Amino acid sequence: MTQALFVVNAGSSSIKFKIYGVAAQDHEHEDLDLIMGGQVDGIGSEPRLKVKDQAGAVLVDDKFPVEQLSTLSQAQTVIADWVTPRIKGFVIIGIGHRVVHGGSVYSKPVLVDDEVMHTLESFIPLAPLHQLGNLDPIRILRERRPDLPQVACFDTAFHHGHPELSDRFALPRELYEEGVRRYGFHGLSYEYVHGKMEQIDPGVAQGRLIIAHLGSGASICCLFGGRSIETTMGFTALDGLPMGTRSGTLDPGVVLHLIEQKGMKPEEVGNMLYKQSGLLGLSGISNDVRELLASDRQEANMAIDFFCQRVAQSMASLAVTINGLDGLVFTAGIGENAPEVRRRVIKHLNWSGLFIDDMANEARLPGPQGMRIEGAHSRVPIYVIPTDEEKMIGLHTLRLLRLLKKH
Ligand code: AMP
Repeated sequence: MTQALFVVNAGSSSIKFKIYGVAAQDHEHEDLDLIMGGQVDGIGSEPRLKVKDQAGAVLVDDKFPVEQLSTLSQAQTVIADWVTPRIKGFVIIGIGHRVVHGGSVYSKPVLVDDEVMHTLESFIPLAPLHQLGNLDPIRILRERRPDLPQVACFDTAFHHGHPELSDRFALPRELYEEGVRRYGFHGLSYEYVHGKMEQIDPGVAQGRLIIAHLGSGASICCLFGGRSIETTMGFTALDGLPMGTRSGTLDPGVVLHLIEQKGMKPEEVGNMLYKQSGLLGLSGISNDVRELLASDRQEANMAIDFFCQRVAQSMASLAVTINGLDGLVFTAGIGENAPEVRRRVIKHLNWSGLFIDDMANEARLPGPQGMRIEGAHSRVPIYVIPTDEEKMIGLHTLRLLRLLKKH
């Protein structure tokens, strides 16, 4: 029977999953074939299961009453009940999970056992919203399928080993020792996109590279020699760029003002910074770039302008860290699908010799190998490369399971 891997990417109100077929165990070929992928989202509000096959055809798109699907555990059951009879021809060899925080401990994926689980739980205070949602499915699946190895892959791992200057805040030293550092996130996406760059242009991939992951969460990373050197997200996924609903970098005095002068409770401030700010807060209209671009209201346009200026500023500042630039990549929901955002970002960088080719930029969506959008006189190439965090998790899981089998 064909072997398969199950990949789980759980958030606070959604679980995405993908199932990949795996080449034979002794095979050196390290690639995965998508069998199907889907998600349960709207958990606790408007729950919905949607699954597509490898060609993108919809296999199921069902809504559920909220009473039936209000927890991650129930979502996991819905997925398992739907998937199990449909993968009878495959033998699942392991499960890979996205885990947002590996703390200062994990610099690469790890096989989950009781001790690892305990360590991962100790990181919950570092990313309360995300880490809990990531660990729940691991716990549930360990109970249901104790026979299956589970691998945790971290969003922070790719940034492990940052130079000290990228890793610190200008705060008292003891806080750094306690773990108040700039961990960085979206590492699985950066690793995947960098891997693609290695195939597309190995010279640029090894040079001074900036990758902009612009999705509902957004960050930018600069790399040299294929390693992350600095990134805009720091201690939490709030830092750096303004996002769909997250504020991004903020004068810390604003937080003090909200608590001391306006009497807001820390959880109210947290809720505002994570859920009511960013593009939604700026525009008062939507967190979705599609809606903002389609709107003719001035606030919508201003929110997009604000976002693009911050993206360009961050790119310029990261170029300082790596002493220049050999290539630039846009990825994730906005980076891949919003030519207007790319156009406005690069316009801010014309002074530095970066130019876009309008025709190439407006062209159809990039294929899996990406597309180039720089103008003829641009000093460096500009790419659009689709990211695939689940595939990166799948590849990590497969590599680790094969390594463990060898030893
Ligand atoms: P992600 O988190 O990477 O899935 O990105 C999701 C975000 O990408 C959405 O909230 C939208 O703002 C944005 N997005 C997706 N498709 C488009 C599109 N066709 N045009 C503009 N923005 C898009």
